[in-house]
Amino acid sequence: MAVVQLNGQNIRVGNVFCIGRNYAAHAAELGNAVEAEPLVFLKPTSALAGAGEPLHLPAYSRDVHHECELVLLIGRGGHDIPESAALQHVAGYAIGLDMTARDVQSIAKQKGLPWTKAKGFRGAATVSAFVPAERVADPGLLEFSLQVNGETHQQGDTRLMLFPVPAIIHYLSTVYGLSEGDLIYTGTPEGVAAVKPGDRLQLDLHGLVSAEWSVAE
Ligand code: MG
Repeated sequence: MAVVQLNGQNIRVGNVFCIGRNYAAHAAELGNAVEAEPLVFLKPTSALAGAGEPLHLPAYSRDVHHECELVLLIGRGGHDIPESAALQHVAGYAIGLDMTARDVQSIAKQKGLPWTKAKGFRGAATVSAFVPAERVADPGLLEFSLQVNGETHQQGDTRLMLFPVPAIIHYLSTVYGLSEGDLIYTGTPEGVAAVKPGDRLQLDLHGLVSAEWSVAE
């Protein structure tokens, strides 16, 4: 059973939604245009890895990238949630990694195939414990960072999201519906790069929660 932590409790995870190309500078670094509506993909719950779990790189990739992202936990589901009520549906905020086999993704993009093998392998969705939503007055004003072996690789600022948190919730709830326990990876800022065995990845969400993962040797 896939679970995440909120207030010391295990919460069973439902769907794992991810948003792509949600920061202009990241879309540009991969040569992608920005989208007119949120670009959504899914990960299986078997991809989840809690803080401290070793990250095993898939044998079929030579280029696995880190993508540091704000992660939402849905507390109350719904359909057609208006942006004005969206934040009431969030139970917590976390920091995580949308690990991506970039070489596999590039081939899938060329062929017009799904990204699942590039984005859904075991350990491809790391996530910290969740900060209760009551402690975050505005998720549109959060900074986050990723250090690799003590060096800052990614710095995020949710003010720069092309589709801010309320817009993402409105969109997902309208197209798919949202349920209690769903996770949403909200997209990565620029600075994505390959990891290698032995790397230590340290993530921080606005001083509210931090987590660390090591890439298995
Ligand atoms: Mg991503």
